[in-house]
This record gives sequence, structure tokens and C-alpha cells, in this order.
Amino acid sequence: MMGGLEMNILVQKFGGTSVESHQKMIEVSNIIKDTKEKGYDVVVVVSAMGRSGSPYATDTLIELCKQANEVVSDRELDLIMSCGEIISGSILVHTLKRGGLDSILLTGGQAGIVTDEKYGDASVIQIDPINVIENLKEGKVVVVTGFQGITRSGEVTTLGRGGSDTSAVILGAGLNVKVVEIYTDVDGIMTADPRIEDSAQVITNINYDEVFQMADKGAKVIHPRAVEIAKNNNIIVKIKNTFNPSEGTSIGGCITHNIDTYKSSKDGKLITAVAHKNRLTQILIENCQEELFTDILTDIEKNNISMDMINFFIKEKIFTIDSDKTNILKQILDSYKVEYKIVKDCSKVTLIGSKITGIPGVMAQIVKTLTKENIKILQTSDSHMTISILVEENNIKKAVNALHREFRLSEIKAIY
Ligand code: ASP
Ligand code: MG
Repeated sequence: MMGGLEMNILVQKFGGTSVESHQKMIEVSNIIKDTKEKGYDVVVVVSAMGRSGSPYATDTLIELCKQANEVVSDRELDLIMSCGEIISGSILVHTLKRGGLDSILLTGGQAGIVTDEKYGDASVIQIDPINVIENLKEGKVVVVTGFQGITRSGEVTTLGRGGSDTSAVILGAGLNVKVVEIYTDVDGIMTADPRIEDSAQVITNINYDEVFQMADKGAKVIHPRAVEIAKNNNIIVKIKNTFNPSEGTSIGGCITHNIDTYKSSKDGKLITAVAHKNRLTQILIENCQEELFTDILTDIEKNNISMDMINFFIKEKIFTIDSDKTNILKQILDSYKVEYKIVKDCSKVTLIGSKITGIPGVMAQIVKTLTKENIKILQTSDSHMTISILVEENNIKKAVNALHREFRLSEIKAIY
């Protein structure tokens, strides 16, 4: 029940490649029409048209400002960035109307998405989609511009790059829906990056935490903040391909399992996916006194360098950073005159599976597999559902392929 009327709302979000041309907008409007004919009240969230290089894509709009002045103003940058979604939303509304569907475009602010003041990476602090509901009640398809909101004082803000996923899920939460559909140009979340693993498969069901880990460990899936909001509101997120109707991936709504269900199931997979991240640098600091090291850590933080795969021992401190921060880090370390080693061009491969916890022998299996392939293990780290291995970047494809094969990710469907 919503607003005193029985409503059956479905939120459908379309990414940049789904709305990049007039022709593609027609395909999108056909999907919306089908959904409407099934009896749903449809709320559509759009991204800006196309990717970097397209005339109205977010990157293009940012570039226009940067050409005028290298120093960009955050407030004005958010204003120009918000135009990308307004352009695509307006064209979609016209396309829908031409196809006979009554429709209206609302900006993030008009749809009731209220954010804090952090330009460029604002967080939603309130959602009040009364305007959306009123328009749905009139039978309209409500198109909402993704990626943006408004502050309490009326300033336009954006939600961070890739933020239209967040807009869709936030609206879903505000409208109390069970399912949000995210349409993109791939068939769903894959067991590995299909560009480097030929036998990568679509994962049909995955839980929120696994997706969260995949995004964090380098896989381009869905915006992590959107996953977090979906999890907190029990919303199932379906990832679908605009151009290839198939089942896609369902995030959430999985049966949770434990070691017993894994062991008792013949076709259970221990690992759900293999993610990887390139362009990392490994740092080893030697014989550094604790006090000095504390000062170094403070400097690292001040310079906004985030550390990963952190292993601190008495004699040695080891961690990784993104490659583009290597020079700043070197400057910091040189200023403290400490002994250090740097290993450039590293990649991290991560196995993700909520069933890893408590299953013995996984690390042994990984080490055996990589050693057989002559892949040097530079470092490892793990959490309750991930195991990460740092390797030389030129070994990453071999590592992903070997682990994908070893853990039979292309053979058997996950059980949930
Ligand atoms: N258009 C925005 C971006 O490129 C938001 C999105 O597409 O999700 O980051
Ligand atoms: Mg996106």
C-alpha cells in the first residue's frame, strides 16, 4: 500500500550505454512499455547518454569546464554534471510519449532526493518521493534523473561517479519496492572479467556482501553504495542486459548457507567469483622505529593515500597503494630517511565467496595452483569471505585463468 492506493511499483534504471542514441532509447521505451503492460507503475532512472567521448556524457561535461579553467569549482561542476541526466531524461520522455505512454521527467530534487552538501560525492540524507507517487497515480511513467539530488538549501549536488545506481535504489527504498532492475550492456555479474577469462559465466544469484567485495576488489559491477542501501532495505537488485533479454543476475534474496549446506551439496561452489585489480605498487619499509612509523602513517593519511593489503611486523611493514600515488609516497619515505623497497606493476587477484569462512585448505589450493603456473606470490591477505593474492602484473591473466579453472567457476552453477 502506498499513499492510500494499491500500487505495484517497479523501478528500472538504464545506464549510459542503454540511452546513448535515439535508436537505443526506442529499445528502452519498449522495455518500459512491456513493464507497464504487465500492470506495473513504472519509475525509470536514467544515466547521462553514452560514455566518455559522447557529446552529453558526464566526462564530456566535466572536460568542458576543465578546458575553460584547470581549477574547477565543485559547485558549478555539479551543476553542469547534473545536466547530462536531464538531457537523457528529457529525450526519453519525448520518446515514451511518441510511443503512446504518458510520462514526466523529474530531477533528483523534484523526486525528493535530499543530500548533504558534499559536492561531487553527496550522500542522500532523506528521500520523500511524494511527487513521484502523485504522478504515478495519474498513470504516468515517471522518469527521474539519476546521479543527483538537492541540498536542504536548494543546491544541486551529484552522488559520486556511477551514482545513478544509488538513485535507483534510494527511490526504490523510498517507494517501498521489493525489486529494482538495473539495465546495462552486459548480461549480468560475471564469475570473472570476460575480457581476460573466456569461460566467465553470468552469476544468477549472489548475495549483497559478495557483490560489495567484488566492487571493492576491482570488478566493475554496480555502485557499492547502491548495494549497501539495497541490503539495508531488503531490496533485490536485478542486473539485466537492455539488448539481450535473459535472466541476468539477482543480488540479494539468497538463502544463506553454512559449511554443512556446502559440504552436503554435490554441486556447491566454494567460490562465487574471481576479481582483479591492476596498477598497484607494493611497499616494504624495513627497520623503522615505531614512533617514526606513526609519523609516516600520519603523512600518508594527510596525502590521501589509501593503503591496502596491510601486513605490519616488528622489523618490516608491508602494504600496497595505487600506482599513481607511488611518487608522493616515495617523497614521504625519503623525507624520513627510512630504508624501503618498492615493487611496481603489481596486480591483486581476489577469490570471493561467502562460504570460504571455516573451510580448511582453500589457501593451500590457491598456492598449489599458482605455484604450478610459476606465478610468484608477492603477498596475501584475507577477510571472512575473500582471499587476495598480490602478483606481478604480467602474471594476472594467467592467475585469473588458473584460479577460475581450479575452483570450477565455469562448470557448475552456484547453489542458493
Ligand atoms: N552519469 C554519471 C557518471 O557517469 C552517473 C552514472 O552514470 O551512474 O558517473
Ligand atoms: Mg554505472
